[in-house]
Amino acid sequence: MMTTHRWGSVPVPYITPWSAEAVTSAPLTIRHGRLAYEHEGPYDRHDGVLWVRVAYAQGAGRPYFPGVHAWRQRQAVMHDLCQICAEPAHLGGRFLFLLAARDGRPIQEGETTAVPPIHPECARQAVRHCPHLRTGWAAALVTGTPAWGVAGIRYAPGSLVALPGPDPKYPEELARVAYTDDAGLRWVLAAREVIELLDVEPVTDLDAIGRAGVG
Ligand SMILES: [Zn+2]
Repeated sequence: MMTTHRWGSVPVPYITPWSAEAVTSAPLTIRHGRLAYEHEGPYDRHDGVLWVRVAYAQGAGRPYFPGVHAWRQRQAVMHDLCQICAEPAHLGGRFLFLLAARDGRPIQEGETTAVPPIHPECARQAVRHCPHLRTGWAAALVTGTPAWGVAGIRYAPGSLVALPGPDPKYPEELARVAYTDDAGLRWVLAAREVIELLDVEPVTDLDAIGRAGVG
């Protein structure tokens, strides 16, 4: 059963944040040689990595379509939930991924992404409604989605000085840190879970993909 929120006639993706869900700014400090909150709670870290604090009030206020809700993004990616309707996204042992692609480049084998999987019918809706997909998209059926790392704001090691993002042209873009980079993980405030896409089979016709994931 689909549980998608709506804003007027427009479906609001599960991972879209609402205006009542602001990121809570909490004072940072350095503890045990890593970034920490001054007052840290049991839910501030996942696998030892510090995460941004976000309010949870899905459906309250107005949706902010360009944004991503950090907690729901993590839930969707970790539990293979559709980014639009939050139902399990399995398609006969595979998953459909739909990424923005300004240059039309197909999804690559081993590509890393913070975008959760999507149902074929939700993907068809997304292509119609999402402005960031209108300029180009790439889709693929994928068998494996192992955890790769996190995306977030990096801090200069040993300091509370936030470092600029990876691309000056896109200041909102987050830096990525792999789970193999122990030193990097100590100095990042994570906001997205990042996965790797394996056994990638590009999809060019979304209409040809059904529930079973067969083109
Ligand atoms: Zn869906």
